[in-house]
Amino acid sequence: MNRAHNFNAGPAALPAEVLEKAKEELLNFEETGMSVMELSHRSKEYDNVHNKAISLLKELLNVPDDYEVILLQGGASLQFSMIPMNFLKSEETANYILTGSWSEKALKEAKILGETKTGASSKETNYDRIPELSEIDVDPKDSYVHLTTNNTIFGTQWPSFEFDWDTPVMADMSSDILCRPIPLEKFSLIYAGAQKNLGPSGVTVVILKKSLLEKIPDDIPTLLRYDTHTKSNSLYHTPPTFGIYMLKNVLEWIQEHGGLEGMEKRNKEKADILYKAIDESDGFYKGHADKDSRSLMNVTFNLPNDELNKLFLNQAKERNMIGLNGHRSVGGCRASIYNAVSIESCKALRDFMVEFQQQHG
Ligand SMILES: *Cc1c(COP(=O)(O)O)cnc(C)c1O
Repeated sequence: MNRAHNFNAGPAALPAEVLEKAKEELLNFEETGMSVMELSHRSKEYDNVHNKAISLLKELLNVPDDYEVILLQGGASLQFSMIPMNFLKSEETANYILTGSWSEKALKEAKILGETKTGASSKETNYDRIPELSEIDVDPKDSYVHLTTNNTIFGTQWPSFEFDWDTPVMADMSSDILCRPIPLEKFSLIYAGAQKNLGPSGVTVVILKKSLLEKIPDDIPTLLRYDTHTKSNSLYHTPPTFGIYMLKNVLEWIQEHGGLEGMEKRNKEKADILYKAIDESDGFYKGHADKDSRSLMNVTFNLPNDELNKLFLNQAKERNMIGLNGHRSVGGCRASIYNAVSIESCKALRDFMVEFQQQHG
C-alpha cells in the first residue's frame, strides 16, 4: 500500500494503525451489526466511546479535578467567539497576545463583542518569534489573556509556559495539543480543533476550569454557553459521533506510544532532523522562525527564490511528499509534522532536501 508522506497542515496525517482499526470495525462495531456512525448517540455502546475519549484526554493531559473536558463542534474558530461571549464582561478588557494569523482572527471576534487590547505582538517581523515574557503587558484587571501556543502558519511555538499572571489564561492549542506535556494548571481554558493532532475535523476539545462557569451571563444562547455542555457531558445535542470515535482511537494510539512524554521525544527527534537540514544548508534553506521560537509541529522555510521553491515542491510531490507548500503569508515551504507523521517521513524529506541542494545549490 502506497501511503503518502503526508505533511498537510490540517486536516492532516492520522496514524495508519488508527485507520486500520476503524476499517476493521466499520461494518460491525462491537457486535452491534452496525458502524459507530449508525449507532444512537444515546446507546450504551456509543456512550462508552464518548466517555473513553473524555477520560483519555483527562489522563493524558493530567487534567486536575477542578476542570471540565467538553467536546464541541464549530472548530477552533467558534471558540474565538464563544470565549468573549462567555467571559468578556462589558466593563472589562480582554488581552490578546498576537503571534500569528490565528491569534489575529481570535482578536477580531473579541473586538466584535467587547473591549480588547494587545499585550504583545510579533507582527512587525512577520510573526517570526514568540515575545519574551518581559515584553508582555498583562494587567490583573484584564478579563483574560488569550494566546496561541503554536502558530501553524508561521512555524513558531511557545517554548515553555513560565508566566505567573493573576489573570485567567486561555489558549488556542489547535496545532500542538498533546505534542508534549504541558502545565495545564497554568491555563483556565484551552481549546483545539481536532484535525491537526487529534483526529478528523468536526470535533473541538475544550478544557476549562469549573470556576469559570459561574461567570457566564444569562443572555447567551443555549448552544453557545459552556455550561450547557458541561452539564450534559457534551451530549446536549447530537455530537459528531464518528469524529469522537476517531479521537478516542487516536488517544489510545498516543497512550500506547508513551503518552505525552513519548510524543515529545518523537516530535523532537523529527523536528531536529529537519531543522538540522536547514541549519547545515549554508543558507540555501532559510528558516522563517527564530531559533528560540521554532515549532515542533510546523517547520517553515524558504529556498533562494520562487522558481526553486516551485521546483522543490513539484519534485517533492513526485516523491510522494504531499502538502509542503507554505501558506501565502510566509511563502516557501512548510512541513507539518504532527504527532502522526513518522520519523521515516521526516528522514525522506531530509534526504530529498540534501539531494535537491546538491543539484541546485
Ligand atoms: C487550524 C487552526 C485554527 C482553525 O481551526 P478550525 O477548526 O478550522 O476553526 C485555529 N487556530 C489554530 C492555531 C489552527 O492551527
